[in-house]
Amino acid sequence: MDVIALKNIKKTYATGEAAVAALQGVSLAITQGEFVAIMGPSGSGKSTLLHLLGLLDRPDSGEYILCGKNITHLKDNQLALLRNHLMGFVFQQFHLLPRITSLENAELPLIYAGKRHLKEKAMERITEVGLAKRALHRPNELSGGEQQRVAIARALVNDPLIIFADEPTGNLDTKSQNEIMELITELNKKGKTVIMVTHEEEVAEYAHRIIRMRDGKIISDDKKAGRTKKDAAGDESISMNAILSETQTGAKRAELLDHFRQAFFAIVSHKMRSILSMLGILIGVAAVIAMLALGTGAQASIQKQLSSLGSNLLTIRPGSHRLHGVSLGVGTVTRFTFQDVDAIAKLPGVKLITPSVTDSAQLVYGNKNWNTQVQGTGTNYPAMRDSVPVAGRFFREDEVRSRARVAVIGNTVLKNLFGEANPLNQFIRIKRISFKVIGVLPQKGSAGWRDQDDVVVIPITTAMYRLSGKQYIDSIDVEVADIALMDEVQDNISGLLIKRHRIPANKTEDAFEIRNMTDIKKTLEATTRTMSLLLGAIAAISLLVGGIGIMNIMLVSVTERTREIGLRKAIGARDSDIMGQFLIEAVTMTFAGGVAGVAFGALIAFLISVVAGWTVIISLFSVLLATMFSICVGLIFGLWPARQAARLNPIEALRYE
Ligand code: ADP
Repeated sequence: MDVIALKNIKKTYATGEAAVAALQGVSLAITQGEFVAIMGPSGSGKSTLLHLLGLLDRPDSGEYILCGKNITHLKDNQLALLRNHLMGFVFQQFHLLPRITSLENAELPLIYAGKRHLKEKAMERITEVGLAKRALHRPNELSGGEQQRVAIARALVNDPLIIFADEPTGNLDTKSQNEIMELITELNKKGKTVIMVTHEEEVAEYAHRIIRMRDGKIISDDKKAGRTKKDAAGDESISMNAILSETQTGAKRAELLDHFRQAFFAIVSHKMRSILSMLGILIGVAAVIAMLALGTGAQASIQKQLSSLGSNLLTIRPGSHRLHGVSLGVGTVTRFTFQDVDAIAKLPGVKLITPSVTDSAQLVYGNKNWNTQVQGTGTNYPAMRDSVPVAGRFFREDEVRSRARVAVIGNTVLKNLFGEANPLNQFIRIKRISFKVIGVLPQKGSAGWRDQDDVVVIPITTAMYRLSGKQYIDSIDVEVADIALMDEVQDNISGLLIKRHRIPANKTEDAFEIRNMTDIKKTLEATTRTMSLLLGAIAAISLLVGGIGIMNIMLVSVTERTREIGLRKAIGARDSDIMGQFLIEAVTMTFAGGVAGVAFGALIAFLISVVAGWTVIISLFSVLLATMFSICVGLIFGLWPARQAARLNPIEALRYE
């Protein structure tokens, strides 16, 4: 049976203006078990013919019948299957992948066949070509002859029907040449069909049939007498349909793992390049993590401070005394009295109320001085401000009535005046007036730039009448019973004050202001949310830049590895295999960069919290987001280079310099 039959094959290369007719109607039949040498002067079309025979290229016209099946119009992927299962290639330049061992080189075709026990099978072949001892060496540690043996082992590993050899000894010395040719002859004796291109007569001597070409045509076809081929046709009948259908379905599962292995090799073998390209993603992801941690932390600490202010709170203050530096005169500013407080307290929906005056004053205890804020207030203060003393007690109603000289101090005051000593029942001087310390307020931390613990709280009456001589109340805090009533209560208070102070309709805006804590909270929350978004956006941009970096590297790597891609295709990788490998490579890099970035970002966030004392919170959400994002970056930016790689024509890729 003819293993190969070509009918009137033509191939023309169009380069620039001139079209080169490399093959001008070649017809040829090759029988199972033959050893054919194709000879002819340079440019006669030998290589073109071999590449067409080896399904590495397609003819312009004519028919190709392989094992009785017309395969002229099969798809690229089907041709890849046939190359993988029926053909083995040995090239003049060996085309071994430089960064993996001989054994790994030899097992490559098995990967694309989706077979298992790769190492064992590849080792058998390596032993067969006499290189068992060198199996774990890389190609650059081997001589030319040894490299070609590895290439032969690779060609044999899938147990092909036909071996194609393109000037297999072109780069070798005479000794190696003879060894390689004996190896090939041996294979032929075992039943493999061998088709070889050579321009050396002594090499061609090994063949049983010599086809000579000139100007794209066969000019002679000599079969040597006396060398009868074996009757191999019978027992080696090939079911083409079985091959074409079998590998469509089977053996896919194993391949993904192998792609990962290939991608891993590629990444590890270009360590520096891989690390540099991961760096972009790493920085991007670290930025996302750190910035989101800062944003979330800021949000949480603002939340905490807001809740320490008490909720459902309204603060009423007189209107501003000055507008653009000009006094608005008497009558525009409302002066609050205790009668106002009593009146507001009677409004429905008002739960608690406390008036207050603030002043700053010099505190003295023993030989220590401290300047702080003195707040005069009522007995509802602890409940409304979530400030029940942690030591001692707050002042009572009778103490307010009697203008008692008692003080409750904040933590900062405590530290500065008393240090570690017990302040309770000690006497401090505020503006030279002696006060007894009766309690210590709980710690609140700082709200922005203001230290909330730098305060001393005294009865409002004492503050007004003994300390500052103020006649009026500075502000009134109101706690509303239910958050739903906030607006209603605010309106009622407003109406009440307008009535009580007879504020003319055109002055109501300036006369007093009522601040709504809930509104302030909402505004602050919205602000921090915007801030987080902004930070996130900046981080996303850096991820994008990182992604473009990856794309760049992948594109460079496609170009750099064009010959590798060509080789992989020649030994049976389908477009999807190449694409898969490159995509997995990109995604693996971005994913690894992402994971490292998460760790690095967490470290930065941690350092910020330690050094600057800011609250940072690393949410699971941000970690997942960043990781997902880095995978997507790999997919998106790896896609184009992967497609470019997959599209390459095997023979052009192989010849790429
Ligand atoms: P040989 O192997 O006998 O030296 P080839 O088959 O390589 O000859 O080439 C046959 C002719 O086709 C030559 O004239 C060569 O210049 C031309 N040729 C081969 N490959 C290409 C190509 N990729 N593009 C353009 N012309 C080509």
